[in-house]
Formats: sequence, structure tokens, C-alpha cells
Amino acid sequence: MRRWNNFSDIDHYQRFAALLPREFQISFKMMKIILCFCAVVSCCVAVRYDGYQTWRVQPRDSNEIEWLNSLKDRLVDKLDFWQNSGRLDRPVDVMVPPTALSYMKEALMSRGLSYDVMIADVQALSDSQIKHDVTTSAMSFNYNVYHTYDEIQQWVFDFTTEHNSIVEQFQIATSFEGRAINAIKMGSTGLNKPAIYWQGGIHAREWISPATVMYIAKMLAEGYGSDSTVTRMLDTFDIYIVPLLNADGYVYTWTNDRLWRKTRSKFGVQVCVGTDPNRNYDYQWAGQGASSGKCQDTYHGPFAHSEPEIASTTSYLLERAQRQKFVSFIDFHAYSQLFLSPWSYSQFAALPVESADHNTASVKTVNALKSLYGTEYTYGPSARTLYAASGCSVDWGFGVLGAKYSYVIELRDTGRYGFLLPASQIEESGLETFEAMKAFGEHLLSEFA
Ligand SMILES: [Zn+2]
Repeated sequence: MRRWNNFSDIDHYQRFAALLPREFQISFKMMKIILCFCAVVSCCVAVRYDGYQTWRVQPRDSNEIEWLNSLKDRLVDKLDFWQNSGRLDRPVDVMVPPTALSYMKEALMSRGLSYDVMIADVQALSDSQIKHDVTTSAMSFNYNVYHTYDEIQQWVFDFTTEHNSIVEQFQIATSFEGRAINAIKMGSTGLNKPAIYWQGGIHAREWISPATVMYIAKMLAEGYGSDSTVTRMLDTFDIYIVPLLNADGYVYTWTNDRLWRKTRSKFGVQVCVGTDPNRNYDYQWAGQGASSGKCQDTYHGPFAHSEPEIASTTSYLLERAQRQKFVSFIDFHAYSQLFLSPWSYSQFAALPVESADHNTASVKTVNALKSLYGTEYTYGPSARTLYAASGCSVDWGFGVLGAKYSYVIELRDTGRYGFLLPASQIEESGLETFEAMKAFGEHLLSEFA
């Protein structure tokens, strides 16, 4: 019997149905209703993490790092590595499902590796993160809770209306699933000003990123005219801000799977959905630290800039760069508390000649950040400080866009809550990161104003 895949092909279905005993024969219409129902149910059932735990493991030598990395490849559908390791001084954070807790415990113990339970129940922590307020204007926008995609896009419009003398809004991209990705440009009027670019929410589950980016935009808008650094920054530079780049993935974290990281793209027949947008940039694409496995969280996509979110934002920036010199590019992520400069694609690549300047700016930035609440950030070239990852935004910002100060910032925390940072920390994250961006802005002003 011919295998049939397409239920709209009524002939095939009826021929198949005729082979069934009478009591199993159902109409084609009924079959379609059943199939639609199954599709709806399967698409909307949210993934739950009851009893899942996040463990921190500290490898002691390169063999152990390698072994942990091999676990990651072998158990891609079981274990979720929240934080990978490429260095001995950096632990691995891994989320373990309840069915694998004893297996993992034994596997670690057999190698003499100990672990700490960072999160005892991922679902319980995730539930506690959502305290939802619906707001209707920028004035009443509650910056201290996490917001949905719709609310963030609405915030772009309301924020622009409220601060229309220094803010303009525009749509910078359309997501794979057709969602608008809105952006703002902040700055006083002036032609061909040097430019700064910030983007948040490239990785869907890193909710603190869009929340912090919106917070610092608000602080900039409120500080214009009263805070001398902010005023000089907005008079000197145009600051382009995309609060939420990975719209589809972010929506999915609210509706289906809180820990989704990638986009929601699909190219042809594909069992696993989504590309890691921060492995999709056209700079050393598909090298070290990026996966060709479609089911891996670091899947680099079928080709560079396959993701419309990346293709559109990069072409927009390159087009702007013909008239404005981009002096800085920052991609906001979480978590780990890091401020990382190029290169990301290899720890063996010669550092850029600008590397000393990158470090000078980094020291000022992380010191200012620490001054408020004592939050410590580590800085340095990305691959040498953390691990190699190719096709990343930070390398594209520096290597292609030509922004001298290109960084990836990993926001709070260092793993106590990981991706599930409580909303009660948004304000402190926003305020300390704003202090950091002001100090960084001072550095840019000293060089480019
Ligand atoms: Zn990230």
C-alpha cells in the first residue's frame, strides 16, 4: 500500500479507509477534524519542567571538559546545558530532567565529579517569574515585571510618543513567523552623527535582556537635559535600540517552552525547529562553537543570515553605516555577568590591534556597574574569557560593521537563578547597567566627540 502523507488528497484517504473494517471507517471530514484537533493540542501544550533541576559541575581538567561536552552531544534531547565550559575556571550548568537525575548522579560520581543543585525545581521557579501587569501607556509601563512580545512592541510606540523630541520608532525586521520587530533611534537631531547599536532578546529565554534594554532606554530619555553625560551622549550619538530581536522565540517562551533559545524558523523538512541566531552572523560562520545539528541549541542555520531577523537588522545597519560611522555595537544576553569583546570565533586568533582600547573601556564599564550594588562582571576577549563561538554578533559588529567597540554583555546573574532571574532584580539590573552604559558612553565621548 502506498504511504500517504497528505490528508487533502481525498482519493488516497478513501482508498485507505475502504481497507478498514466498517466500524473503523470514518468520513474524510471527520478525519480532518480529528487531525486538526491533534495539531492544535500538540502545538499548544506547554512544556513543563516539574522536578527538573539545574546542577553546577566544576570540571578539573580538559578530559572532564571534553567528557561533559560529549554528554551534551549524546544527550541533546535530555540535558540542557545552560552554561557550557571551555575553561577550567568556568563551571558547567546543566538542567537535568527528573528521569535522568539518578543516571546523571551516577555518571558524575563514577568520574569523581561533585555537583551543586542550583535550582531544585525549574518549573516552580519559572512560575514565580511571571507577575503580569497589563499597561496602557509608557507613563504607566511597569518596568519591574517581564512583558510579553505584544507589550514590548506597544512600549516602542508609547515610549516614542512620550519622548518624541529625542526618540523615533521604526520597524527594523519581520520575523520568520511574520511578526514586526520594532526599533527606536534615540538622539537629538543632527546629520551623520556617529552611531551606537544595542540589541536585546536575541536568545529567547534570556528575559532579563529586553527588560534591561528597555530600562536603560527609559533612563536615557529621562536623563536627557538633566544628566550631563546622558545629554552629551544623545547630542553626540544616535543610539539605535532593538529591545527584542528574536520575537518568535520570545513568544514561544511565553506560550510553549520557557527555556526556548533559538528562532522558530524551519527550512524544508526539518524535525527540529529553529536556528541559534547568535551563530547565524556572516563572520566566520559555521566554525568552532557552532553546531550543524539542527536539534542543537547552537545550530548555525542552513546558511549565514538565513534568519530574517539577522538578515534584516544587519542589512539595515550596513545601509546606515554608509552615512553614519558605527562606533559601538552591543548585544545584550544573560547570564554570567560578562563584558566580552572580539574575537569570539577562536581563542587562537590574534587579538585585534584595538584590543587594549577594548580593555580600557571595559574596565571603566565594569567598575561603574559594580559601584551601585557591588555586582561583579568579568571582561576580556570573548573566546579567551569564555569559549569559542563562531558566527556571533560581537564579531560581525566589529569585523563587518566596523564598530570599534563591539561587545557581548552577559547580564545577571552568575547561576543562582540563571535564565529564570526573578523580576524583582530587573530594577537593579537596569540601574547598574545604565551606570555601566554611561561610563562606557563617557569613554566613547572622549574618543569620538
Ligand atoms: Zn544568549
